[in-house]
Amino acid sequence: MNRPQQITVLGATGSIGLSTLDVIARHPERYQVFALSGFSRLRELLALCVRHMPRFAVVPEVGVARRLQDDLLAAGLQTRVLVGEEGLCQIAADPQVDAVMAAIVGAAGLRPTLAAVEAGKKILLANKEALVMSGALFMQAGRKSGSVLLPIDSEHNAIFQCMPNDFARGLGAVGVRRILLTASGGPFRQTPLAELEHVTPEQACAHPNWSMGRKISVDSASMMNKGLELIEACWLFDALPAQVEVVIHPQSVIHSLVDYVDGSVLAQLGNPDMRTPIANALAWPERIDSGVAPLDLFSIARLDFQAPDEQRFPCLRLARQAAEAGNSAPAMLNAANEVAVAAFLERRIRYPEIASIIEEVLNLEPVVAVEELDAVFSADAKARTLTEQWLSRHGR
Ligand code: NAD
Ligand code: MG
Repeated sequence: MNRPQQITVLGATGSIGLSTLDVIARHPERYQVFALSGFSRLRELLALCVRHMPRFAVVPEVGVARRLQDDLLAAGLQTRVLVGEEGLCQIAADPQVDAVMAAIVGAAGLRPTLAAVEAGKKILLANKEALVMSGALFMQAGRKSGSVLLPIDSEHNAIFQCMPNDFARGLGAVGVRRILLTASGGPFRQTPLAELEHVTPEQACAHPNWSMGRKISVDSASMMNKGLELIEACWLFDALPAQVEVVIHPQSVIHSLVDYVDGSVLAQLGNPDMRTPIANALAWPERIDSGVAPLDLFSIARLDFQAPDEQRFPCLRLARQAAEAGNSAPAMLNAANEVAVAAFLERRIRYPEIASIIEEVLNLEPVVAVEELDAVFSADAKARTLTEQWLSRHGR
């Protein structure tokens, strides 16, 4: 057996980060933790360092770094603490690193993920926002460096597993007609529309099938998550938005499907546990144990499907429009959504306002070409400012 692969986990203290470390810990002969990053739950980061003994840990600012460094020394660890985005880019691109789990949430993950892509690393991509914001640049950087991009999002990992090996030749060339992206419909799938005015962040975060971070949980409730995933699928599989159909499947057992021209439809099934796609991507093209229980079809008993209702889920329509507009539109959609979701989580706006604010902001700005990263960040900044302005104009 070769030496263990060196893994950097960006966003180690989050839901995906912790699931990744759980899978890694099951295979010490295969994987070693090279570096971890955390942003807020720093006591947990310390505990993770004690458990996984990384070479580096990254935190957001100097004061925090000093305290963590002292605690690490007191615990007898050699882990060196680095700071901020520069530290994140360093642990993403270090020559000793084999694979990077990109599991920071939101636009904050873009630069470090891109640093890993440019350094030619194997990328385990959970941070869909990075791809949504800068898909063209991201994919181009990957082709240039030879970086292998493996999707962690359960739907995209499912699609990846159902695609032929040579799917990069183009969907038409490999006989794929459509991608069927499944969605649970979230906690508000059946809530009377009039009640959506009054739903709380706690209700939005109580996902029926998956346990996830707060931002993606709200995105799942609004189905903006599926909209971002539609854009993500277009980049990963070189598909047109019209080739990706969203299917509500409340049990979250089928994680997505690929429809071929001969009428075959391939699906990947499993329990809703992110350790499956994480283990799949970590070991690809091999298979390893993930700790996930075997699927019990008898207890599931039935699988249901329905078309998404655009009146209930306006974010899905907004995301599809942004996917079709391309250029700066997805970055603006993503940024407006990040600010609106944060405002909802802080109880500054009501749930239906998430979609209406995003729509207003997108209508204020023309779509422009984004040929370099600066243009992506300026579209992102513009949408954040416009969304903040909306909030202050409405006294929130
Ligand atoms: P989370 O909120 O649980 O964790 C986010 C991580 O990012 C934490 O480690 C946090 O410290 C770090 N972070 C937050 N803000 C940061 C900043 N400004 N700078 C640096 N680090 C920061 O989120 P999660 O549910 O683990 O999701 C992570 C990513 O994976 C998201 O992009 C999400 O869309 C994607 N994803 C998650 C799931 C899931 O099941 N949780 C499924 C598919 C995709
Ligand atoms: Mg998903």
